[in-house]
Amino acid sequence: MRILCVEDDPKIRAALASAIEAAGYVVDTSPDGEDAWFRGDTENYAAVILDLGLPGMDGLSVLKRWRENGRTFPVIILTARGSWRERVEGMDAGADDYLPKPFEMEELLARLRAALRRTAGIANPVVTHGGVALDTRQMRVTRNGAAVALSPQEYRLVAYMLHNSDRVVPQHELAEHLQGEYGDRESNAVEVLVGRVRKKLGADFIETRRGFGYALGGP
Ligand code: CA
Repeated sequence: MRILCVEDDPKIRAALASAIEAAGYVVDTSPDGEDAWFRGDTENYAAVILDLGLPGMDGLSVLKRWRENGRTFPVIILTARGSWRERVEGMDAGADDYLPKPFEMEELLARLRAALRRTAGIANPVVTHGGVALDTRQMRVTRNGAAVALSPQEYRLVAYMLHNSDRVVPQHELAEHLQGEYGDRESNAVEVLVGRVRKKLGADFIETRRGFGYALGGP
């Protein structure tokens, strides 16, 4: 799943990016409001971490403009500690959750997982489909109770499909969420990855819908 991380402080930005990446996501970063607004308006993100105090366009304005333009991805805002007004304004502007600074990275990651689950309509941190179970806290996948070793890209593929189990995911969307903006967008790369996941999780785990994309195999 591809996450946008908006923070003007380079140290915090780098720490956020490496922690989120280590947790199995693909990360884009943005240092200011104008750039962040453009990315969120034109790219496809599973969730956004948004600092409110930004140079240029502030975070609250960025969020309002996304929501006005119908961008629905979950947004977690980073706010100044003690500023309850900022939090209220942020939630009212369409934020899904907030975290006062300074924060513990573990808490941010837990909130991110929860936001992604809510968006997918999943209540349990262990997401299951057939005999396959994905524990998003431990980044572990099991099949019929047995642990399955996955590469980071295979894990991202399984996580994305399980969080979008109710629809057909177009190939280009999957490529974006697996590889980020600088990734290999060759359709073949996704097909090869899907093939590897089928070998590990069963041939019917992911179905190819020719001309449309991929869907979890039923039931
Ligand atoms: Ca800031």
